[in-house]
Amino acid sequence: MQGENQPGVAYFCPMQLLDGKLVSRSVKEKVKDKTDLLKKEGKKTPHLAAILVGNNGASETYVASKVKSCEEVGFKSSLLRFEETISEQELINAIEKLNNDEDVDGILVQLPLPKQINEETIINIIHPDKDVDGFHPVSIGKMVQGLPTFIPATPYGILLMLEHYKIETAGKHAVVIGRSNIVGRPISILLSRNSYPGNCTVTVCHSKTSNLKEICLQADIIVAALGIPEFLKADMVKENAVVVDVGITRVADASKKSGFAIKGDVDFAGVAPKCSYITPVPGGVGLMTIAALLMNTLMACETKYKKQA
Ligand code: NAD
Repeated sequence: MQGENQPGVAYFCPMQLLDGKLVSRSVKEKVKDKTDLLKKEGKKTPHLAAILVGNNGASETYVASKVKSCEEVGFKSSLLRFEETISEQELINAIEKLNNDEDVDGILVQLPLPKQINEETIINIIHPDKDVDGFHPVSIGKMVQGLPTFIPATPYGILLMLEHYKIETAGKHAVVIGRSNIVGRPISILLSRNSYPGNCTVTVCHSKTSNLKEICLQADIIVAALGIPEFLKADMVKENAVVVDVGITRVADASKKSGFAIKGDVDFAGVAPKCSYITPVPGGVGLMTIAALLMNTLMACETKYKKQA
């Protein structure tokens, strides 16, 4: 009997995929409708400016899909490309120009940056009103205080996904593996806030956590964001858990035309049968990250009009 734990009947947990393709499409449709409305009202078209430094293959792919997604929802986008050798000051100058450009609503600097450039300096230079990646200390501070702001795109995408599938979060134990400023730390804060999705009891695990397996086995919700392919195994997950796999790692694979396969942080084949819900990789959180970036860019544009009103 599905989903019921009856004596003498084998427990069968029906797993549902958290489909990033489906949910991101639905988010994009909403963004497109709102963009069409802005245009109809004679207001400006949301404009995202993306900065790409060097020729990192993964970064090229990510930026290309962000620009393509802008086109899909009717946004304007600008792609500024710079050589790997650009100095920090030259990059700062380029960002300041975008900060002062009235037409640009959102600025995105694709990370990682070359060694000669301090990422923290660059993130801090982006004007908080245009910080659609949500990495600026002003955005993070507001997020921690529960004030309206740009939420970092990947954690925001995870929230949109949980919301879409109406996954119960209040009172649940969420375990976040990873404490980075862009994923682990913010999602742990967001899942603990007093709203939906939220109200979880959150445990943050990291590279120095000694009893990770025991902690994961207590989790109702696991967010794996550590960047180690197939790290989370079936014996670390309790029956019926919700598993969100943030990991994206390129692993050499001669059978693929590209020469690599994309792997998540979860051993999907082993873990999925135990879960109530799980995100696939690819086709899960990655697509939601882009959808959330579009939501933030739309908000940046709309906020301008709210400020004027
Ligand atoms: P990061 O490298 O900045 O941080 C990794 C974190 O994992 C650290 O906090 C570290 O303490 C923890 N960690 C490392 N080894 C561990 C271990 N053995 N046990 C427990 N914790 C451990 O990572 P990040 O930038 O947050 O990225 C994590 C993964 O998510 C990467 O694969 C990255 O490519 C991916 N990512 C995906 C998206 C997306 O849109 N899907 C967005 C951002 C990052």
